[in-house]
Amino acid sequence: MRAVPVINDSPTRRFYGAKDIDRIPQFQAMSTEERDTMKAVAAVLPFRVNQYVLDSLIDWSAVPKDPTYQLTVPQPGMLASEDFERVFALVRGRASEAEVKAAAKEIQARMNPHPAGQQTLNVPKLQGDALPGIQHKYRETVLFFPTPGQTCFAYCTYCFRWAQFIGENEFKIAARETTELVEYLKKHPEVTNVLITGGDPMIMKTKLLRRYIEPLLGPGLEHLEAIRIGTKSTVFWPHRFVSDNDSDDMMRLFGEVRAAGKHLALMSHYSHPREMEPAPALAAVKRIQDAGAVIRSQSPLIRHVNDDANVWAQMWREQIRHGVVPYYMFIARDTGPKNYFEVPLGEASTIYNDAIRQVSGLARTVRGPSMSATPGKVLVEDVLEVGGEKVFALKLIQARAPSAVGHLFFAKYDKEASWLDELEPALMPWPDNIKS
Ligand SMILES: *Cc1c(COP(=O)(O)O)cnc(C)c1O
Ligand code: SF4
Repeated sequence: MRAVPVINDSPTRRFYGAKDIDRIPQFQAMSTEERDTMKAVAAVLPFRVNQYVLDSLIDWSAVPKDPTYQLTVPQPGMLASEDFERVFALVRGRASEAEVKAAAKEIQARMNPHPAGQQTLNVPKLQGDALPGIQHKYRETVLFFPTPGQTCFAYCTYCFRWAQFIGENEFKIAARETTELVEYLKKHPEVTNVLITGGDPMIMKTKLLRRYIEPLLGPGLEHLEAIRIGTKSTVFWPHRFVSDNDSDDMMRLFGEVRAAGKHLALMSHYSHPREMEPAPALAAVKRIQDAGAVIRSQSPLIRHVNDDANVWAQMWREQIRHGVVPYYMFIARDTGPKNYFEVPLGEASTIYNDAIRQVSGLARTVRGPSMSATPGKVLVEDVLEVGGEKVFALKLIQARAPSAVGHLFFAKYDKEASWLDELEPALMPWPDNIKS
């Protein structure tokens, strides 16, 4: 483990984006061609990285294979080759910003910015009006996207939220305030948890986050059992919980949620065991737990970063050691640079099962590999041979239709398939609510 200095206070949060590619000291050691390559990809796919990730997580002697480098820095393979060549030629020829932007925009529109009907199917209504920044797909859980939380400490290159980051209003899901959320929740006693998500809500200063959380603690919302916050900050900016100038206040806010009789869960994205090694990351875990919150870990299985059973087993074991609860292993969604990161379902199932065999029951709370598809969350339980036919055993563990939860179904084995919509029923017809 390398010693890592604790970076004090929020003014030292330093973020770098596409415009800074020539300024980042570690990138200056690269060739102009390598930097132009990054610029070309970054014109299409949002890029952002912070000083901590650059200095403390990426092992520069292992670049380009280093997992955190793959996770945060644009790679040439992320664009289809003709798309890449087109933007690269513009960047190389020092074309105007407007020209690069126009080409990028056209490519982005083809990269499926909102998979699984996000923008149309899950938007709830109050007195007939659609509520912006809220999604209600599964009966018990409402997703809330506060406007100021629509960015992150660094952008994960696989992220399905990339449309949130490119500044196109027609793609964005966001809410400015909680009034409508609270009104909606009061009318929906079946909702037991709110998941505050983004982007990364922890990017907000405590004062601002408090404005979104406190209204959820008041009277009339006793049916709300838990508040979850989706975040990567525990590993990309652990100082948020330890040494930023409002970290103490953040811990007080966490304590208030607990004092109001609600569970607080940080749904934290951990992609690789490396992310837990630095001292600030462990200090953050301890501080969050001391404030009474639970950290649950979830992240997608992605090529070039964590497509290895041993990596997951090691990560889950470290999490158990520190009281972090393994929760989900996801299949990467069909959006953005999906081709670069995809791991076929059969291989994903092998990786999950090989990893789960190496850990004790304490880590087997993790479910996966799971697809967040249009009908719900679908687990690839196993690859089997039944009566001479090779099939995937699939299980719906979360569904738009609550009565469908728990259904097992089968699909013809397909070596290449990496998403539900590429599968065909096997052995028996699928339940109605799965084909959509
Ligand atoms: C995953 C997810 C949730 C939360 O599901 P849990 O199984 O309760 O963790 C809620 N809403 C959407 C849209 C989701 O994808
Ligand atoms: S931190 Fe989460 S929301 Fe942000 S880019 Fe990474 S995966 Fe996406």
